Amino acid sequence: TADIIDGKAFAAGLRARVAELVPAFQAKTGRAPGLAVVLVGEDPASAVYVRSKGKQTREAGMESFEHKLGADTTQATLIALVDKLNADPEVDGILVQLPLPKHIDERAVLLRIDPDKDVDGFHPVNAGRLATGMEGFVPCTPLGCLMLLEDRLGDLTGLDAVVIGRSNIVGKPMAALLTKASATVTLVHSRTRNLPHYLKHADIVVAAVGIPHFVKGEWLKPGATVIDVGINRTDAGLVGDVDFESAASVAGAITPVPGGVGPMTIACLLRNTLVAAHRAAGIPLEKGTI
Ligand code: NAD
Repeated sequence: TADIIDGKAFAAGLRARVAELVPAFQAKTGRAPGLAVVLVGEDPASAVYVRSKGKQTREAGMESFEHKLGADTTQATLIALVDKLNADPEVDGILVQLPLPKHIDERAVLLRIDPDKDVDGFHPVNAGRLATGMEGFVPCTPLGCLMLLEDRLGDLTGLDAVVIGRSNIVGKPMAALLTKASATVTLVHSRTRNLPHYLKHADIVVAAVGIPHFVKGEWLKPGATVIDVGINRTDAGLVGDVDFESAASVAGAITPVPGGVGPMTIACLLRNTLVAAHRAAGIPLEKGTI
């Protein structure tokens, strides 16, 4: 049966590496890297994420600026806050927690964030940078998946990878990252005909579908590495997009839910914030340090 990929442990290691690099930055600049997180409204899941982000940011020795706005906040007020954060030299990273209340145009807000502070990597400028091989910010969840894959498999050159899902937050940037890593990438989605056909030869499967137990073990190539991005709340608790039991009997390695991809997202957010701070201060970070 498959090895379990311990994302929780990997994420803890990544957070520790980030924390180790903070004092040197602080010594050079006289300040800690800063992450601003903006929460609008009372979505309970978002409130939990924002709390963990603040806590883990502080634990890494970085500055956390938390802005909690009421559900009736206007788009103009939110945009004015983003402008203020863009101009604030203490703020290296800006994250606006999604989803935003319905009366606010999410796209307009994301477009307003300075791409060089866009540590979530959701700005189209950063999507374009990723697509064209320029330095920018990569969305945290797919970046975490890539780290787990490279930790497990080393060089991904020539491997067959299938990404299930084409969201801007996970599927599309995941496919771009795997392409950059020289894997042969197939992106399948809700309109794909005969999806299992594509999985048969996949050395790597990344599932970002949002349907519990969607990927079945019998679809997989024996020995495949399976990354389950799904976080689905069911009566039986949190489950992934992969049918864990059947998949674990065929795969070579698999991420569990919870404890797989989940913890990587915030760890990568801290990593992106540290990188943003170094870029803003003009301090080089050796490639491969983080
Ligand atoms: P999304 O709803 O934006 O996109 C889902 C994608 O799945 C779509 O592109 C769609 O084409 C595809 N899809 C839907 N039904 C399909 C089907 N029957 N066959 C093939 N493809 C199908 O979701 P998302 O934001 O990409 O998130 C996907 C999952 O990952 C969700 O469970 C979400 O909760 C989870 N997620 C986890 C993290 C994390 O670990 N931190 C972060 C983001 C999302």
